[in-house]
Amino acid sequence: MTARADGPQTDLAELERPALEDALEARGYRRFHARQIYRWIYRRGVSDVSAMTDLSRKLRQRLAEDFILTTPEIVLRQQSVDGTEKFLLRLADGQQIESVFIPDTPSMTFCVSTQVGCAMACAFCLTGKMGLVRNLTAGEIVGQVRVLAGALDMRDKRFNIVLMGMGEPLHNYDETMKALRILNDEHGFAMSPRRITLSTVGLLPALERLAREPVMPNLAISLHAPTDELRGELVPINKKYGVKDIIDACKRFPLKRRSRITFEYVLLAGVNDSLDDARRLATLLSGVKSKVNLIPLNAAAGIPFERPSDRVIDRFAQILAEHHLTVSVRKSRGRDIRAACGQLIVEGQKKSPAQQLATLAFSD
Ligand code: SF4
Repeated sequence: MTARADGPQTDLAELERPALEDALEARGYRRFHARQIYRWIYRRGVSDVSAMTDLSRKLRQRLAEDFILTTPEIVLRQQSVDGTEKFLLRLADGQQIESVFIPDTPSMTFCVSTQVGCAMACAFCLTGKMGLVRNLTAGEIVGQVRVLAGALDMRDKRFNIVLMGMGEPLHNYDETMKALRILNDEHGFAMSPRRITLSTVGLLPALERLAREPVMPNLAISLHAPTDELRGELVPINKKYGVKDIIDACKRFPLKRRSRITFEYVLLAGVNDSLDDARRLATLLSGVKSKVNLIPLNAAAGIPFERPSDRVIDRFAQILAEHHLTVSVRKSRGRDIRAACGQLIVEGQKKSPAQQLATLAFSD
């Protein structure tokens, strides 16, 4: 809600449909208008109540007095030669977040953020260097999807969503789950949870909670190392929730038929890319319905690691395949547009907006 002179205004972007129905009824409107409003916001992409033209003019005027509709604003948009597009978005309080469109993975994918910054401090991640600034609201998480679907003219197209942008989604549990319910609503985007993947470092209590959710996304675990010793250096939260406990939780996780858990593994030259690391990883994942996504590091200034050679990457993948694991190697994407998570913002903090724009304009 935001304060105004004659009372608070409720943000339509923050309301699940049942809550919107209640809010409408409490103000003397008919409950069914919630379905119309949902269709306008999520299917037709309006960001202003006055554009909801199947509502009477009088009703729209009243709605505009009682409600606001907050939408993130595009600050920068940059397209890579490989089709990846990175968006820098400004929120209502001026904070900035990143969202990425990845065109062929194999379908279209939006990578969205769940926090401004991140508290997890993974050693290879620029967002982690920012620390946690604040959680995003559900409306801000869904707002990224609204903005990208509009900017990319994809409202009528199928796309996937990965919660792999800035932030740890399970560290912002309630707003993330609320966002998933809004995305799932049949009168809105009607996104099947099967088209949404939540990526986590493995916050165990939240992972156990997730296992009981009615709207449950696909699960990806950011593993990055096969042992506690090494993972503790790369992903500090591992000191609290260790590798064995995470794998045990994954074995208990109620997967849908034919679903598997994705294990993400950022390959860092000379750190976690040895043949022994590959064998240990294969042993660790035996008995887990899994697939492994190897992610050669997107090297960037400020990240103290290097990308392994293609030969090392291929060998690592081959060992996993020899152990009957399903493995894919993520293509390097958007290297020319600083697609490493948090890169636009961390670099931008050192520059004025004009300098940011100049850098972006000349980067390709
Ligand atoms: S990799 Fe993910 S969880 Fe780790 S610091 Fe970066 S954003 Fe946070």
